[in-house]
Amino acid sequence: MNKKLFVISGSSGVGKGTVIKKFLEKNPSFMLSISCTTRTPRPGETDGVNYFFLSKDEFQNCIDNDKFLEWAEFAGNFYGTKQKYIKQCLAEGKDIILEIDTQGALQVKKRMPEAVLIFICPPSFEELEHRLRGRNTEDETTIQKRLDAVKIELERAEQFDYKVINDNLERAVSELEQIITGEQKKC
Ligand code: 5GP
Repeated sequence: MNKKLFVISGSSGVGKGTVIKKFLEKNPSFMLSISCTTRTPRPGETDGVNYFFLSKDEFQNCIDNDKFLEWAEFAGNFYGTKQKYIKQCLAEGKDIILEIDTQGALQVKKRMPEAVLIFICPPSFEELEHRLRGRNTEDETTIQKRLDAVKIELERAEQFDYKVINDNLERAVSELEQIITGEQKKC
């Protein structure tokens, strides 16, 4: 069976990480792609598990050598998905999910039109600001940058295949499962 690439985006603080985590717990055949980033690891994050943490020079080197399926600058840091890694996972028949920003998602769609783009929406902008501040992991400047990014991301989401509103975790996970199962049946 041909494997599809599922790309999930959502604004910072929308809870997409929790939705995806729950989805993966319920659907263990799926794996989450590990991205590269130049941002500093947060407490508890491990290299090679949460991200491959690269220096700016290492990241630039990958860009120059066309190693990325997609990459983007997000809130002052660089993030990217290695092309070879994804091709290898798909060739091995793995069900794979990319959790990346909207710029990257649209790049993936251009290179791989069969990829399915899903956007996780906040119930409202105010709710999202509240969640982002509640995380207590970023300083005010970073939070402001991320809120500006949210507005742009909501516009880009218009080009996605599906939108899932995260108003309730169980409901959002179940909607995500329905979308993914439906798309797999089309393969
Ligand atoms: P965080 O710093 O909170 O882990 O991630 C910030 C943003 O970068 C999130 O929107 C996340 O989805 C996005 N991101 C993570 N990995 C990648 C990637 O490989 N490519 C792109 N374009 N965005 C990514």
